[in-house]
Amino acid sequence: YGIKNNKKFKYYNPQIGFDEQKRVTLVNGFTESLNNNEFYLLWQPQYRTRDKKLSGVEVLTRWHHPQYGTISPEEFITTLEQSQRICDLSQWVIGEVFNQLPLLHEKHPGLEVSINLSPQDLMDDRLVHYIDSLSDQFAQYCEFVTLEITESLLIDDYSRVLSTIEDLKKRGFKISIDDFGSGYASFAYLQKLPANELKIDKSYTDLYREQTTYAILETIIELAKRLDMRIVVEGIEHQQQIDLFTNLGAERLQGWMLDKPMSLQSLMSKT
Ligand code: C2E
Ligand code: CA
Ligand code: CA
Ligand code: CA
Repeated sequence: YGIKNNKKFKYYNPQIGFDEQKRVTLVNGFTESLNNNEFYLLWQPQYRTRDKKLSGVEVLTRWHHPQYGTISPEEFITTLEQSQRICDLSQWVIGEVFNQLPLLHEKHPGLEVSINLSPQDLMDDRLVHYIDSLSDQFAQYCEFVTLEITESLLIDDYSRVLSTIEDLKKRGFKISIDDFGSGYASFAYLQKLPANELKIDKSYTDLYREQTTYAILETIIELAKRLDMRIVVEGIEHQQQIDLFTNLGAERLQGWMLDKPMSLQSLMSKT
């Protein structure tokens, strides 16, 4: 199972063909870009297998830059992580989600929202302090927010990460292990982290036709259930995947076959 880990080496590679000038421009202008509303969120629905109802949504950040146009998170997340600015983005995303949740719940009562965090967000108290600094009116919404975290080679201080996770859980947030099966997250991680949810990565969802994959998925899902974790499967692109993961006992599905990431306006007008 550990053999699939060649993806990990991505972390050590300098970004091939990455434009250094662009990186510097993005980082230097980042605060201004945040203030100028160049960032916005897309919302991708998650559907419950049991009754096919909309029950969650993952927020995915986009950066519309005046010079470079729309930049994908694959590009700017790495840049912001390398320059230690990712925590500022995470705080902005969380603030946005809290601002929208009251309205969102008028239309979709109880809808849960998932937010992606970076390993750096868990390495110190800034995130927890930021959350505590928010208006008390938001406290009641923490239970509807799931924080998705990814294993990373950069997490070497597990006790630090664990204590941040505990602090977040105390405030009502749910914790999800993102990208499971992608090579970053592994069984060892499952045991270590007190998470509420396991998210099966689309690279794994893609391999559903292979016999051995089926057996592994069955095992993962059974183990997660024993650990009392919810299973969410991302990257659903075919009806066969819907059938397979429903049969395997996954609680929620997310993917282009069901819905693409969309504007808040589109989410609000869904029936
Ligand atoms: P992720 O957390 O694994 O998010 C799922 C990605 O898969 C998203 O790409 C989504 O648009 C895409 N996707 C959704 N359905 C399908 C499908 O059926 N098939 C395929 N092939 N792809 C699908 P996106 O929006 O480009 O985001 C890429 C990654 O960037 C995310 O991967 C996440 O790790 C990161 N990211 C996005 N927003 C944020 C953020 O606000 N903060 C942090 N730290 N990371 C973020
Ligand atoms: Ca995610
Ligand atoms: Ca993923
Ligand atoms: Ca991720």
